[in-house]
Amino acid sequence: MANMTLTKTPMPEQDPNVRNHNFQEVALGYTAEMAMEEAKRCLQCKKPKCVEGCPVNIHIPEFIAKVAEGDFQAAYEIVTSTNALPALSGRVCPQESQCESKCVRGVKGEPVAIGRLERFVADWYRENVNAMPEKPESNGIKVAVVGSGPAGLTCAAELDKKGYEVTIFEALHRAGGVLVYGIPEFRLPKAIVANEVRKLEAMGVTVMTDMVIGKVLSIDELFDEMGFKAVFVGSGAGLPMFMHIPGEALRGVYSANEYLTRINLMKAYRDDYDTPIKSDAKRIAVIGGGNVAMDAARCAKRMGAEEVYIVYRRSEKELPARLEEIHHAKEEGIIFKTLSNPIEVLGDENGYVKGMVCQEMELGEPDASGRRRPVAKEGCTFTLDVDCMIMSIGTSPNPLIRSTTPGLETNKHGCIITNGDDGLTTREGVYA
Ligand code: SF4
Repeated sequence: MANMTLTKTPMPEQDPNVRNHNFQEVALGYTAEMAMEEAKRCLQCKKPKCVEGCPVNIHIPEFIAKVAEGDFQAAYEIVTSTNALPALSGRVCPQESQCESKCVRGVKGEPVAIGRLERFVADWYRENVNAMPEKPESNGIKVAVVGSGPAGLTCAAELDKKGYEVTIFEALHRAGGVLVYGIPEFRLPKAIVANEVRKLEAMGVTVMTDMVIGKVLSIDELFDEMGFKAVFVGSGAGLPMFMHIPGEALRGVYSANEYLTRINLMKAYRDDYDTPIKSDAKRIAVIGGGNVAMDAARCAKRMGAEEVYIVYRRSEKELPARLEEIHHAKEEGIIFKTLSNPIEVLGDENGYVKGMVCQEMELGEPDASGRRRPVAKEGCTFTLDVDCMIMSIGTSPNPLIRSTTPGLETNKHGCIITNGDDGLTTREGVYA
């Protein structure tokens, strides 16, 4: 019988005042009973809108029906028939703007917790079965995948299933891309990413780390000297943007990318690692309002800062981060300073950050993005006493690949241009 409760079955979490001192996962996942109870909220729609909202069109009602029956193995097989990485997407996909935003149960009440169920199914499989997949029969055609983030791993898995001989080239010393250097352990445990990479290797995918394509090897060399017949570029957007304000080069100013990489990939929070980071910072400002800013702020709190601010130039309503991340950040004690924009970083006599001057903002007319444009409130500034700043105002693709690959065209943001249908770029044999 359907469960007509209007709200999602809650998922247990660590207490906010405990978790803001550790890096263990915040959300603890459903038990089998909770998952079955939540699965019974699904109405098994004949024309399921949720599937239209899913970028990889997971057969959502079918897998949820199996969860409701308690047949978790069958549910896992249905999910993985279209999604290679359910343990990851169940945790970090923005379901509230994708599948769950379309769920009919959301018309009156909360939608079915599709993401939590996807995560449950993947975790159940990993904890109870975790069989390594078989290696498919090879068609003898070599394909290179540049980057081992979500795009690279997914592309490699799909091509491998079709019989291609896939090699992933990763620039860093560990595979996973943004999943390991960007997203913190408390949102996505790295052991889960490593397990997904191990499964790919069992399927026959070769993973080569410390391989910066554009430096160690060019895309031309992948074709001409290594015999690859196609290259997929999934190298992400790892080049941080800065504000270009006075004092930005002072000691104690980080890009969010660098700060998160030191903590997540290079384990600066662990005593058994020597990764340098400004660990004595007590008042930290994170500039920006996206998911990366929330991750950086929540990491800063866990690193021991007493006060951590999110400084954002629009109002709270316009924060681009997922609602869940904003909610978690607030619960953990992050202070939101909205309608504020840094205009100068102040330094002490040794060149370290000692504060920043902010301009108060107000919202004007909507800009091209449809959001109301922040405009300076004349004569209204204030100084925030901080000893560390983390810039999280966006990233763009690293120019290395486009600058070393003749014929590969990019747009004004530096993103590789594709035909949109199958990802083919302006360079023959190169996809993105
Ligand atoms: Fe179930 Fe909601 Fe999808 Fe309908 S739209 S099938 S209720 S998850």
